[in-house]
Amino acid sequence: MPDPSAPLRLLVIEDEAPIRRFLRIVLEGAGHAMDEAARGREGIERAATGAPSAVVLDLGLPDMDGKAVIAAIRDWSDVPIVVVSVRSAEAEIVAALDAGADDYVTKPFAPAELLARLRALTRRRSAGEVPPVLSHGDLGIDLAARTVTRAGVPVRLTRKEFDVLALLARNAGRLLTHHQLLRTVWGPAHLDDSHYLRIAVGHLRDKLGDDAAAPRLIFTEPGIGYRFASAE
Ligand code: CA
Repeated sequence: MPDPSAPLRLLVIEDEAPIRRFLRIVLEGAGHAMDEAARGREGIERAATGAPSAVVLDLGLPDMDGKAVIAAIRDWSDVPIVVVSVRSAEAEIVAALDAGADDYVTKPFAPAELLARLRALTRRRSAGEVPPVLSHGDLGIDLAARTVTRAGVPVRLTRKEFDVLALLARNAGRLLTHHQLLRTVWGPAHLDDSHYLRIAVGHLRDKLGDDAAAPRLIFTEPGIGYRFASAE
């Protein structure tokens, strides 16, 4: 397995030069290498030729819609993509995640937050195949047997509760949208039934002893989706 603390090669696609300069200071300061592009087309080319470990993509580019950049990269690569958006552009963020982005930060963002997102996503990728039993703290999730234990004690979940938990935990550290969760667990006819999801997550939190106000396992991104805590 690759060293999780190894330096990353990051591609920043952002049209504002001061933000690129700021990101270079942050990323190189953390020991990573940074490549940059000011436009979408150039960014797609560099993603293809530079084999970055992750992409940081500004959604407000002059030449292309951010979703089109994500779609183009996703044609041939599953490189982690973190999008940068302005606060309150919730619909734009959801559309980017549904198009295949892995996570987001909003401007102005804290460097530590961006670095934590990039670390979580690249760690998940470098871990390769999902192991048959996932664990987080005292929680154990056996994906094959479809059983869950908490401190060794079995937790009874409904089929849908298990499916939601397994999907989130398999994507630990990644933000999944309401639509992605509803489509996978309930099917494409239920994309608007977000109350199914809300209820299932509420029951999961009760059964797993997680607190929505101070979560350890399942984090809510209001209006966007849910994220399972990244691997320790
Ligand atoms: Ca911009």
